Amino acid sequence: MTKFIFFTGGVVSSVGKGVTAAALGRLLKARGLTVAVQKLDPYINVDPGTMSPYQHGEVFVTEDGAETDLDLGHYERFIDINLNQVANVTTGRVYAEVIARERHGDYLGGTIQVIPHITNEIKRNIYLVAETTGADVALVEVGGTVGDIESLPFMEALRQMRSDVGHANTLYVHVTFLPYLAASQELKTKPTQHSVRELRGIGIQPDVIIARADHDIPQEHIQKIALFCDVKERAVIPAVTSDILYNIPLLLEETNLAEHVLERLQLKAKKQPDLRAWKAMIDRIRQPKPTIKIGIVGKYVELHDAYMSVRESLYHAGVANNRDVIVEWIHSGDLEKGKGWAQFAGLDGIVVPGGFGERGVEGKILAARWARENQVPYLGLCLGMQVMCIELARLALQSDEPNSTEFDLHTAHPVISLMPDQHDLADMGGTMRLGAYPCCLTPGTKAAAAYGQPEVSERHRHRWEFNNAYRELLMENGMVFSGLSPNGRLVEIAELSDHPFMLGSQFHPEFKSRPNRPHPLFKAFVEAAVRRQEAGEKYEVAKVESD
Ligand code: GLN
Repeated sequence: MTKFIFFTGGVVSSVGKGVTAAALGRLLKARGLTVAVQKLDPYINVDPGTMSPYQHGEVFVTEDGAETDLDLGHYERFIDINLNQVANVTTGRVYAEVIARERHGDYLGGTIQVIPHITNEIKRNIYLVAETTGADVALVEVGGTVGDIESLPFMEALRQMRSDVGHANTLYVHVTFLPYLAASQELKTKPTQHSVRELRGIGIQPDVIIARADHDIPQEHIQKIALFCDVKERAVIPAVTSDILYNIPLLLEETNLAEHVLERLQLKAKKQPDLRAWKAMIDRIRQPKPTIKIGIVGKYVELHDAYMSVRESLYHAGVANNRDVIVEWIHSGDLEKGKGWAQFAGLDGIVVPGGFGERGVEGKILAARWARENQVPYLGLCLGMQVMCIELARLALQSDEPNSTEFDLHTAHPVISLMPDQHDLADMGGTMRLGAYPCCLTPGTKAAAAYGQPEVSERHRHRWEFNNAYRELLMENGMVFSGLSPNGRLVEIAELSDHPFMLGSQFHPEFKSRPNRPHPLFKAFVEAAVRRQEAGEKYEVAKVESD
């Protein structure tokens, strides 16, 4: 039987509830237990796929093509598991299902209510995680903060779960925040007490409180929280902000949280966790390293969360190459206006990540041109590959006409276009090529060398594809199609032969990178950037205009 650990948040959002839960997942896995994860998001969107990155940050894509919350990325990276469709459930999805059933007549004339119909549907989804994974432990996180109107049905479902499956099979973990008052130089526990009171009002008494803080937490604060919130002192866990994200599991291990969880849930597992590899990784991360500067050229650069997995992948690849990756955030919209080029001085590589819509795309094309002309390593992710192909077609045809039909529907040179069977799509949500697809690598290419195997599987999230009518033209101009779908119809990876490293993938490699297993393409890209850095090549400075 699967045991459930429920995570709720108090005081403020963004305290790192997802990371904390993911870290506990790693500690349980290190004790030989199997772990499943689910994020319950109280917003009304059916999934975050249609939400602006400004609102929601990155959309994380699973193997089976679910468009999910970025917290799932933390879970995959920390626990090293692959999540699936049931791992992210929203209010929108719950209601859509209940309403569809009501229209179908399944409720036989009953009045449909939040309790029990919506809460039952939420619980059905929670049980589904247990059923589809058979895991020893399911970590279930509710998004937002206790007290939010939207999260009430989820909280109620969690409350009911205790009587449904029993005390020994459920554990409520409340993650709060202790604010620091600079004037009196102290942390305050009052907001935590209030949020626990709020939680109790819903009928949930937390078993564990994880107190996040940016400063060391004195033991008397722990005692105070224990006393006021009726939680055992050893179940009040201090979680001070870590300088190294991936060190959180080790910090959490020192608090004996995992031991307490095992005891409380009567779980049989290894007493001592096997964290040797993880510790060795943290040691590697801690080693002082030379820096390397990589530019990320995008249109959501103000909000770094929009590129969460890209940034993490660069970080993983940096550690593997003994480099501290410094990211230079470059706004593609600026480049079009002739601004922002000063940021290119000193770059050792450029990443053009995924994106949608016309805004800022010309700036990305200019960035690709700059990387090609200056022989600076370039990694294009999805839109970044499309941009690289458009740029080369513009050079080959000596014209600005080549484009994607996403940005210019009537272009005379649709280098990137929809496939013939895609032309009638009307819905925006869930109509993209999503999830894992196989990709065959062309021997002798940079892609094949990076992966070291003939076939790989990678995750997609896009609508447009490379237009095969332009393959020959681009091949004549130095492009190599180094990754194709098994039937050869879809371009998955393109690279330039006369460039140290200019490679783009139609898929998103960033979703599969792990701290202890950097993605081969990111690793090869940073390797190329290191080579460039070590050779000390200078760019054609004339290209680097100042603002
Ligand atoms: N907008 C492009 C497409 O839909 C690229 C998508 C992406 O970068 N994820 O094909």
